[in-house]
Amino acid sequence: MSEETLGLSTLAVHAGYEPDPATGARQVPIYQSTSYVFKDAEHAARLFNLEEVGYIYSRLTNPTVNALAARVAALEGGAGAVCCSSGHAAQIMALFPLMGPGCNVVASSRLYGGTITQFSQTIRRFGWSATFVDTDDLDAVKAAINENTRAIFCETIANPGGYVTDLDAMAKIADEAGLPLIVDNTTATPYLCRPIEHGATLVVHSATKYMTGNGTVTGGVVVDSGKFDWSASDKFPSLAAPEPAYHGLNFHSALGPMAFTFHSIAVGLRDLGMTMNPQGAHYTLMGIETLCLRMERHIQNAKAVAEWLEADPRVDGVTYAGLPSSPSYERAQRIVPKGAGALFTVAVKGGYDSCVKLVDSLKLFSHVANLGDTRSLIIHPASTTHRQLEEEQQIKAGAAPNVVRISIGIEDFKDIISDLDQGLAAATA
Ligand SMILES: *Cc1c(COP(=O)(O)O)cnc(C)c1O
Repeated sequence: MSEETLGLSTLAVHAGYEPDPATGARQVPIYQSTSYVFKDAEHAARLFNLEEVGYIYSRLTNPTVNALAARVAALEGGAGAVCCSSGHAAQIMALFPLMGPGCNVVASSRLYGGTITQFSQTIRRFGWSATFVDTDDLDAVKAAINENTRAIFCETIANPGGYVTDLDAMAKIADEAGLPLIVDNTTATPYLCRPIEHGATLVVHSATKYMTGNGTVTGGVVVDSGKFDWSASDKFPSLAAPEPAYHGLNFHSALGPMAFTFHSIAVGLRDLGMTMNPQGAHYTLMGIETLCLRMERHIQNAKAVAEWLEADPRVDGVTYAGLPSSPSYERAQRIVPKGAGALFTVAVKGGYDSCVKLVDSLKLFSHVANLGDTRSLIIHPASTTHRQLEEEQQIKAGAAPNVVRISIGIEDFKDIISDLDQGLAAATA
């Protein structure tokens, strides 16, 4: 069985794990162990020198977590992956080997709200910075790049507006500038889009969302395509020059396409400690087994609900890239041809007050700050996640006072519609 020829549904169930040779366990066991006994002193030395791959300590690697990393790498078509404690941890881990004090990342202005905060505020404590640009303005993206830029960052399908990024165009700009393109593929998942096939260098995930799929654990993954030439310039010394944090090892010359993955484990996880735990990995592995089935239902339901809402007189508009009325529709056919995800915003007649009433009137939908759950979820950004912003900023972020964001679950479509129907009736009465 070569993983290269297997389909996604098969990889989702099989990739990254062979039955445990000691017990024959068919399912991936939860290796609840902090450390691993060395065969002898020489074995230990080889492991610490990265001359032999094996387990040392679970802050670095753990067999259950490794099975998940290998499975996500296979699903995304990458060379290697590293799992982290959350999606936000994955973003720091993706930037960590690339950045240094004074370096910047050019990031899309349409990103998950938490990422905007992480990039505009918190990373400054490391001496890093982000320059936000409208990724539809390719000249602005090029102009934002300077000699201290170390990566370009965007999302496949950006929330809350259901906007689709032209990954091919971003990859071309990154390529010409000799920079890696990092794509957050959380809301699309590899079922809808494999960013590496569009030229991405690194793919990051909040596994908290569709990957796990049922709102049980937080987790994150960074997948490396293994295709970027870290030695082509002197911009990436952690990967392509002797790394002082690892007794002078040059990761790129020693490990080739696995340089980024090994650096992320041997230095990133070792020193930042944003490790995923084996229980968490177990829940995410269980979720991924049904990823393709769930995504099929998510996008079927989302399309039907978006169409129903768009035709409803109580609704002023729906931002779903799967609707021909969306400005992202044409692009969605190229980037996410199977479907435009299951997350979009709805403008409700009556504005802010109607939105709040709608959220309070729904019975099947849960009012939560999450997305990508089997359950249908709703939130009114202007009164919650985007509350601190001025109205003008809310509108720019796709979170105007008159919109609610919904994440369509895998329930029976007629039940989702009937809940929205009664909710809209109460909200606009
Ligand atoms: C949720 C989310 C994140 C952050 O992930 P956590 O697991 O909550 O840390 C990042 N990007 C996107 C697109 C998300 O939806």
